Amino acid sequence: MVSVSVKCPHCGKSLMSAGKKLDGAKAIEVNLTYAGKHAPLYLSALYGSYLAETELPVPSGKVAGFRCPHCKADLKSTRKCDACGSQMVAFDLKDGGQVQICSRRGCKKHVLEFQDADSELQAFYKSYLKALK
Ligand SMILES: [Zn+2]
Ligand SMILES: [Zn+2]
Repeated sequence: MVSVSVKCPHCGKSLMSAGKKLDGAKAIEVNLTYAGKHAPLYLSALYGSYLAETELPVPSGKVAGFRCPHCKADLKSTRKCDACGSQMVAFDLKDGGQVQICSRRGCKKHVLEFQDADSELQAFYKSYLKALK
């Protein structure tokens, strides 16, 4: 498993949690908003893992908001989920490129995009796709 390191596309600050770990690696920390409430959301940084932890109960099938804990920018992307049509949420990868996840609870759509075609993650992702065939 490869773990990703992400930062806010708006202020450029790291979104990696200082203390929280999931799957044995530093978790991604963002602010989750739903129905006027907000709480930290921790996501596993391991690519392919869907482990997430939050105290805010978002019912399955509902779309939540994701904000940067530093600059409070909305992390919504311009892209729509191929699987369910909801808005995707984008994080910048530290080494270039983006990872996008679907904002709808229960939807497992992840998209990884790379700027650097020779990056380690790109190679990993190709072998990951091969393994699925
Ligand atoms: Zn930010
Ligand atoms: Zn979706």
